[in-house]
Amino acid sequence: MSTTPIHPPTVRTQEEIAARVKALEAIMIEKGIMTTEAVDRITEIYEKEVGPQLGASVVAKAWTDPDFRERLLRNGTETCRELGIGGLQGEDMVVVENTETVHNVIVCTLCSCYPWPVLGLPPNWYKGPEYRSRIVREPRKVLREDFGLDLPDSVEVRVWDSSSEMRYWVLPRRPEGTDGMSEEELARIVTRDSMIGTGIVSAP
Ligand code: FE
Repeated sequence: MSTTPIHPPTVRTQEEIAARVKALEAIMIEKGIMTTEAVDRITEIYEKEVGPQLGASVVAKAWTDPDFRERLLRNGTETCRELGIGGLQGEDMVVVENTETVHNVIVCTLCSCYPWPVLGLPPNWYKGPEYRSRIVREPRKVLREDFGLDLPDSVEVRVWDSSSEMRYWVLPRRPEGTDGMSEEELARIVTRDSMIGTGIVSAP
């Protein structure tokens, strides 16, 4: 896969983007590269089946199974596969762990690389030029102003730049007061943003 951004650095409206996608799809179907059924199926998978609920189940398992957590931090892709989670845009996933002293946040400064198998498709702001440039320059300020996440100075903020070769995502901290919760209950409180690092998990 090429590492060159495929989109020009122009901000386009949703309508313009949709029109371009439709045109490309029509050409690919006409040339026999893709079928309408395949396009529909891929859309359906990433709209209904693959999403942050999968990443949340991985996080909940890591919180309750120390051996799994260790494997996950050592080899994200292989360990997610133990739960049947993997595939397109998740060939090389690296999981970084938030601790009392380190907070991780992910970005793709070049385009919008994102671990699809665990988080689904990226939110629009993740793909926007503003987040991509500012989170690297002033992460603390962006987290505070754009996401309402005010981290104490004692916490080091680390920003991870994903690429088509390596896609990072965050193992958030397990919140206090969740000791009695089951893995399923824990999975329900893990948010997408906590796995991007623009949020944290709160006890219910
Ligand atoms: Fe990218």
